Amino acid sequence: MSNEALRQELVELDKKYFIHPTSSLQDQQANGPAIIFDKAEGVHVWDLNGKKYLEGMASLWNVNIGYGRKELAEVAKEQLEKCGYVSSFTGFSNEPAIRLAAKVAEMTPGDLNGVFFTSGGSESNDSAYKLVRHYWKVKGKPEKTKIVARKRAYHGVASGSTSATGIESFHDFTTSLAPGFVHVDPDSPEAFRKLIEEEGADTIAAFLTEPIQGAGGVNLPKEGYLQEIRKICDENDILFIADEVINGFGRTGKMFACEHYDIVPDVLLLAKGISSGYVQLGAVVLREKLHKELIELSPGVLMHGFTYSGHPTACAVGLKNIEIMENENMVENSRVMGDLLAEKLTELQKETDIVGEVRHLGLLGAVEIVKNQETGERFAEKVTPKIVAAARERGLILRNVVYWEKDTIVYSPPLCMTEEDVNEFASILKEAVLEVQKSL
Ligand code: PMP
Repeated sequence: MSNEALRQELVELDKKYFIHPTSSLQDQQANGPAIIFDKAEGVHVWDLNGKKYLEGMASLWNVNIGYGRKELAEVAKEQLEKCGYVSSFTGFSNEPAIRLAAKVAEMTPGDLNGVFFTSGGSESNDSAYKLVRHYWKVKGKPEKTKIVARKRAYHGVASGSTSATGIESFHDFTTSLAPGFVHVDPDSPEAFRKLIEEEGADTIAAFLTEPIQGAGGVNLPKEGYLQEIRKICDENDILFIADEVINGFGRTGKMFACEHYDIVPDVLLLAKGISSGYVQLGAVVLREKLHKELIELSPGVLMHGFTYSGHPTACAVGLKNIEIMENENMVENSRVMGDLLAEKLTELQKETDIVGEVRHLGLLGAVEIVKNQETGERFAEKVTPKIVAAARERGLILRNVVYWEKDTIVYSPPLCMTEEDVNEFASILKEAVLEVQKSL
């Protein structure tokens, strides 16, 4: 079958049977799938027609070590053949899960040492909400149930994590949100203090935040913000949950973003980069004190667990992924290439008329598109969808954020990026911006 005949067949089957996540059902019927990916290597992916793209999002901010690493395929094959899956319920265990738990405990900040495995970020979030509420319950404070989250936050799409998410379009989609979630101004510790006064610290289980908000537009915390929140949590007996599903595993130029701010959360949420997306994997990591208290105060069965918690093959792949990340200094590379890429993108402020603020930490970044570079005034109509489309046409995959007033391009390429890749990224984006600018 020719490539084109194969593509046609797949397009028809896709339209008929495949309901895509976070995609337009009507666009799919009108245009078919946007891209059918065929292969991937390093920072690049290819479609069925052989067109090559630089994956400027590392797919969904997750393929941190880059595509096509055979070592991961080998370790998965070995584990699948030896013992592909066994249960971790009722005290059962397996070596890859044990070793990955120990590795995650060793590499995460401070005394974050107790590891509960999930299959992704939403499960990590919903698990954390249940675990912290259970914790307060066994501590004799069952009324401490509320989870305070920030506006503009993204935490996933399960029942709890949708409710914790602070982006309205995710709430509008459903008719029923879970109770017990409160959203605060995302930049002001004072707003959190005020909320505690209003709601009462004895009703609040935890404050939940991404150190750097990802899907909400790569929003870096204001100077001192996270440290102040940590302090407020300590003063009020409120747990601090850091959602590092995007931030973790080198994305921001340190292994974990909390390290930039010198804070240790009580609960750390992981997914994505823990396996670089090669298999489904996530984790909830608890500080030792919490873990010990749970052991002391929870004599019965921990009534929470997924079939795939501690999946041996997923954990074996996760371990190998972390080994590669460490052996090849990818975290340091994220910092160095992140700075270089941001520097090149900042040059676009001079080379074009519509690039505004460029912000980043490591290889997590955003480019604002503005009508007036001095005042930051926006165009009446969103421009970034056109730039993202023009960049894609030229072989660079990016994403845009158009919630609220935002007209922002976000980026998050694989951490194995080279200087050559940085140049390719910046030059394609420049061409795309210039083309769209001409049409405005
Ligand atoms: N938390 C954050 C910060 C995320 O960015 C995401 C996914 N983008 C999630 C949670 C949810 O993860 P998943 O899609 O794996 O369920």
